[in-house]
Amino acid sequence: MTPEIRALYQEVIIDHGRHPRNFGPMPEATHALEGYNPLCGDKLKLYLQVKNNIVEAVKFEGSGCAISIASASLMSQQMQGKTLEEAKQLFQFFHAMIIDGSTPDARLGKLTILEGVKEFPARVKCATLAWHTLQNALDGKNEVAVTE
Ligand code: ZN
Repeated sequence: MTPEIRALYQEVIIDHGRHPRNFGPMPEATHALEGYNPLCGDKLKLYLQVKNNIVEAVKFEGSGCAISIASASLMSQQMQGKTLEEAKQLFQFFHAMIIDGSTPDARLGKLTILEGVKEFPARVKCATLAWHTLQNALDGKNEVAVTE
C-alpha cells in the first residue's frame, strides 16, 4: 500500500467516523440488535430490513471510536440490496481480510479501506463489532452481541 493510498483510506475512515451514513433509528426494522465492545466501549444498535431474503436497508445508532463507527457506516452501505447469503459471505471476506490477513475479495468493495486495521490488533474488535452484530441479528439471536 503506497503512503498516498494509505492517507486516502485514512481520510475516508475519518469522514465516515464523523459523518456516518445510514445513522439513525429504523422503526420498520425486521431485525434489531445491540452490539458492545467492552475493550473500547463501542456500543451500537443495528437495524435491518429484510424482505424476500434481501437486505433492503441497514441503519445503526450508537457511539464509539472512529473505527467502529466508520466500519458500521461502510458496512451499512455495502449490505444494501444483498441477499442473506451474500451478506454472510461478505462477513467471511471481511473476517478473512482483518483477522487472517488474506487478500481482500473484490466483492468487499469500499470495505477494503479498513484492511489496514489488521495491523492494530486492539482495533480489530472495533472494526468487527457491527459485523458480529449483523451476523447475530441474521441468525435470529436476541442477546447483545459482545466482541469477547
Ligand atoms: Zn473502538
